[in-house]
Amino acid sequence: MAISELTISVEQCKDSAVNRVDWDNLPFGRVFTDHMLLMEYADGRWENPKIMPFQDIPMHPAMSAIHYGQSIFEGLKAYKHEDGRLSVFRPNMNAKRFNESAIRMCMPEVPEALFVECVRKLVAIDSNWVPNKPGYSLYIRPFMFATDAWVGIKPSETYKFMILLSPVGNYYSEPVRVKIESYYTRAAQGGVGRAKAAGNYGASLYPAKQAQDHNFHQLVWTDAKEHKYIEESGTMNIVFQINDTLITPSEEQDTILRGITKRSILELASSWGIAVEERKVSVEEVIQALRDGTMQDAFGAGTAATLAQIDIIGYKDEVFKLPAMENRTLSNRIKEHLDALKIGKVEDTFGWNFFV
Ligand SMILES: *Cc1c(COP(=O)(O)O)cnc(C)c1O
Repeated sequence: MAISELTISVEQCKDSAVNRVDWDNLPFGRVFTDHMLLMEYADGRWENPKIMPFQDIPMHPAMSAIHYGQSIFEGLKAYKHEDGRLSVFRPNMNAKRFNESAIRMCMPEVPEALFVECVRKLVAIDSNWVPNKPGYSLYIRPFMFATDAWVGIKPSETYKFMILLSPVGNYYSEPVRVKIESYYTRAAQGGVGRAKAAGNYGASLYPAKQAQDHNFHQLVWTDAKEHKYIEESGTMNIVFQINDTLITPSEEQDTILRGITKRSILELASSWGIAVEERKVSVEEVIQALRDGTMQDAFGAGTAATLAQIDIIGYKDEVFKLPAMENRTLSNRIKEHLDALKIGKVEDTFGWNFFV
């Protein structure tokens, strides 16, 4: 299907809310822009993509996404450059991953070029919502859910694809405290951990809440079989710096989400000549490195926070404090470089910025 066959129609909103936003107090993901995108799937094809005023959507009470969870999403961001241009960070990667999630959940794929054009056009229409304060951006949330009005368990035949936009500030205001989980699991081999499937996040809330009750921000997930290997941290990938090497759990198992931020961080660090290892990372070696002082740094990587340095790691009854933030030379440099690249302040040698 060529995109030209599918013209995205536009219905402009009549009363923009952009001047009613409290730009100094932006809670993550609660403020939405004037428009949203909606496209429907039926009879084996996508049709009628439209940008329309932000509004509620009607739903049948038997809608299958609610009952059986055929629901996936993506998350990416748009940034404003000093010259006023807008760019989205690596949207094709999100399009590809969205389709991998769709396949795993028996849902229809959205052609990559169409996905990217939907993102581009919606951001262009709500371009005055992209903040230009440091650390601020426009969060883009594409998602797809099953809409068959039928309480029977089978892949739905109809779906909605939508995109919402939300201006956001910094996700974490302080360095994070995490706890290595040794009972609950996020994803098992053969499961849906690699997909950005809605149910993964619903299932993580209870274990995360237990950790929060013990004064941690989030969990470090371990493998479902033995809890011996590190997987990721909350909804971010995790990277350690031990003996000047960046070490991160390999994505070979289908239990780890293939993060675009982590991939970009590793590509950037490699280009600087930093040693990078993607392999199994055992809880034991992490604890050992924390004990003997070779753990120089640990951070989460994800679109929401870009890079969230970890301050405290808890394991069983112990807590380990990591080096002071000012000594995290490498991760500070990576974060600064990536943040600057996304707003055009350093040269985008990788071609990661997609201009709107
Ligand atoms: C989205 C997500 C990430 C980070 O992926 P990015 O592409 O970097 O935003 C990591 N882990 C999980 C479980 C996620 O859902």
